[in-house]
Amino acid sequence: MSGAGGAGRGGVIAVDGLAGSGKSTVAGVLADRLGLERLDTGAMYRAITFAALRDGIDPDDGPALTELARRVTIEVEAQVLVDGQDATVAIRGPEVTGAVSAVSSHPGVRAGLVVRQRAWVAVRGGGVVEGRDIGTVVFPDARLKVFLTADCDERARRRALEGAGTGSSEELSRRDHLDSSRQASPLAVAEGALAIDTTGRSVEDVVAEILERLMASETAGRPATAGPAEPPATAGSPGPDPGARTAILELAPGPVARAWYAVASGLVKVWALACFRLSVEGRENLPVAGPYLLAPVHRSNIDFLMVSTVTRQRVRFMGKEELWKVAALGRLVGSLGAFPVRRDKVDRESLRCCIEILANGEPLTIFPEGTRQSGPVVQELFEGAAYVAARAGVPVVPVGIAGSEAAMPKGAKLIRPVKIHLVVGRPLWGQAQGKGGPGPSRVSRSVLRQRTDQLRVELQKVFDRALELNRR
Ligand code: C5P
Repeated sequence: MSGAGGAGRGGVIAVDGLAGSGKSTVAGVLADRLGLERLDTGAMYRAITFAALRDGIDPDDGPALTELARRVTIEVEAQVLVDGQDATVAIRGPEVTGAVSAVSSHPGVRAGLVVRQRAWVAVRGGGVVEGRDIGTVVFPDARLKVFLTADCDERARRRALEGAGTGSSEELSRRDHLDSSRQASPLAVAEGALAIDTTGRSVEDVVAEILERLMASETAGRPATAGPAEPPATAGSPGPDPGARTAILELAPGPVARAWYAVASGLVKVWALACFRLSVEGRENLPVAGPYLLAPVHRSNIDFLMVSTVTRQRVRFMGKEELWKVAALGRLVGSLGAFPVRRDKVDRESLRCCIEILANGEPLTIFPEGTRQSGPVVQELFEGAAYVAARAGVPVVPVGIAGSEAAMPKGAKLIRPVKIHLVVGRPLWGQAQGKGGPGPSRVSRSVLRQRTDQLRVELQKVFDRALELNRR
């Protein structure tokens, strides 16, 4: 980090502004100086527009575009990939530029992309995010908000230098007008934003002004930006790797995945009822909306199947990567909601993956005891569950499972048909915030420890209750 090192890592720097105002260049240099990653949300709207043109969807067809924004996979890094296809050059071409403002005016499209933008930040703990509505809508609590403008001629000149025929001043004015006058999240200067007219100014000069403001506001003790608690101690993985790619996750399961899950989970339910006379108490405690983290005790390999019966929604969980080595097995556990983790134990990248899943709106199971334990006492918990929940801004739901150890203890090859009771406890640490919620929060190491201790107490309560029901 450079002279701005005192500003510390983490948090969102929102860079909004007009087309051609120098946003991308300034955001890139700023990110380098602060040692943060950068997200170009304009490229995301362009990528959806590219997919719409590819699929012949009318830029005015809101419902079709909303559905498209849910299902299309977009990767915005050095290259822009849309459903795996390289669209880096095409998204800057005249066809996409001509249609992007119409496409991005639909609230459903925006909602789909805002979820992904928040997930991107949740995974990294911060970054420089550039766009039109970052300081106003996506991250209203950003660590710093910047709004860039420049006069129209200069903006047209800069765009012409970038080439691709997207820079006429008429085209820019038309896009500015559409972006500023639309109903959903119009381009506007966020409250408290540092507005800079970049006309005639060098990039260095503009970046210096922004860094100065950042340091001034932080030394004045504005939003605490002390770094978040690092991911809890894990399986000896190397330090944080901001560039590490998490598993590519579908934003929402497509129709085939949904159908598979319905069939597979239906079979699991029938089996659990027939074989274990499975009963569930406290199902009404599950949050009605938004994602949450299920934190069950862990006594048997069948626990994840039992837990999946508490809700009709697909519940995601971690699976050993080896399972995916046998293609058919990988597909089967994948259809039940599993995603691969590198090692037997949880590492930092897996925790990022978990945060991303929750930020994408799906419930997730993490066994906070780590591996399978034995007996009626909840063992020492790992801090991963509390950490992931805090970072994704979702509640943790403790789940007691009695009987699964008798059904299939560690080392057993066969399953015995004994009674199993599940008890779902009350959600801890707030209601589900879900999509469009206030976003992730940072917690200190000591809060993480406290929450983990509290979870252990609550987990013991639901476990005791399940054991009691099983004795009856
Ligand atoms: O920044 P760029 O010019 O690539 O953005 C392309 C278009 O994407 C904008 O004109 C605007 O319509 C849309 N956009 C948006 N919200 C954002 C970023 C871009 O609506 N946060």
